[in-house]
Amino acid sequence: MDHFLYRDGALFAEDVAIAEIAAAVGTPFYVYSTATLLRHFRAFDEALEGMDHLVCYAMKANSNQAVLKTLAQAGAGMDVVSGGEYRRARAAGVPGDRIVFSGVGKTRDEIRLALEGGIRQFNVESEPEMIILDAIAQELGVVAPITVRVNPDVDAKTHAKIATGKSENKFGIPIARAREVYAMAATMKGLDVIGIDVHIGSQLTDLTPYEQAYQKVAELTQTLRDDGHTITRLDLGGGLGIPYERSNADPPLPSDYGAMVKRTLGHLDCEIEIEPGRLIAGNAGLMVSEVIYVKSGEGRDFLIIDGAMNDLIRPAMYDAHHDIIPVIEPAAGIEPQPIDIVGPVCESGDTFAKQRLMPPLAAGDLVAFRSAGAYGAVMASEYNSRPLIPEVLVKDDQFAVIRARPTFDEMINRDTIPEWL
Ligand SMILES: *Cc1c(COP(=O)(O)O)cnc(C)c1O
Repeated sequence: MDHFLYRDGALFAEDVAIAEIAAAVGTPFYVYSTATLLRHFRAFDEALEGMDHLVCYAMKANSNQAVLKTLAQAGAGMDVVSGGEYRRARAAGVPGDRIVFSGVGKTRDEIRLALEGGIRQFNVESEPEMIILDAIAQELGVVAPITVRVNPDVDAKTHAKIATGKSENKFGIPIARAREVYAMAATMKGLDVIGIDVHIGSQLTDLTPYEQAYQKVAELTQTLRDDGHTITRLDLGGGLGIPYERSNADPPLPSDYGAMVKRTLGHLDCEIEIEPGRLIAGNAGLMVSEVIYVKSGEGRDFLIIDGAMNDLIRPAMYDAHHDIIPVIEPAAGIEPQPIDIVGPVCESGDTFAKQRLMPPLAAGDLVAFRSAGAYGAVMASEYNSRPLIPEVLVKDDQFAVIRARPTFDEMINRDTIPEWL
């Protein structure tokens, strides 16, 4: 069930009118639905029912404290990829033993932070990292639980910038060298090898690459066990795609994914971890923006809105599609017209959609970008000195600002002037 629906011709987030939030916080802004976040988390949790499992939300998709707390209270663990994310997860009340540390370039400081603060496991991505982790763990007198991230060399068939499971990608160690690396890990006193990790990419819309990767993980589990390693945990990564276009896509559901996991890995009697980000947060958020001008160009018209590429970079960065809908429902029988939807930033890349069919809109009207809850606010910048836009969380008929828009002074005063000026 969708929690962003029209009611009597006006768009709502759960039981709150979008126009009411716009009046309170100004545009542009992000708004998230608690019910949708929880529904998506539970869909994964239920998909793995019957297997010992933990859903570790990949918080890089949306790391607002209120979002983390909502999911953590529902039982989610967290997948973090930096010391900053580790601190954010802890600040939101997530205990260390529910935090998984992923990432190809963990620094010594980040490793120390997690070892001292408590960690479920490190997903180690290279031998040099393994050596450093072992040394720091021994220095602190602790043992670091680890999996090794293997690169299964499968084509995730997704956008090149978010494919991570081919041998040419920087992630993990080649699966063909896994035995060697596990043998090395087993000799290290600061490490406790507990499992295998794999993550092949993001926005996957087909289960086949997963199944190929997981079959390789199943074989590797047997091989490593035969070599004498204790493999009790499999971290299967995230990456399940979402329908960005309501009209034409239907990516696999978490339940299909869960059934495939049971089919390929269920016999191994391992604890399963998964790290979904986009599928939990993506369709739980909108970006709402106001039309500034409608401009007639040569052969095409432009809808110039107050949101821009610095607020939502996915179209510029990944050629991503977002459905864009008016906040006032168009009357029946209105003929949509093609129009380019653009922001005010001084780059042609600041284009959200070309020749998109939209009902007639005028300055002052509000539009909502669907599927903007993941990789939206977290990737925003203040390019063109446009302050970060606020984030709002809705729960039933309540809403709260969960990150305020900085004032212009706050934005400017982050810079400091050297004495000599
Ligand atoms: C990005 C990432 C995820 C989450 O990917 P989604 O597409 O948002 O589900 C999970 N695990 C790792 C290691 C990642 O880098």
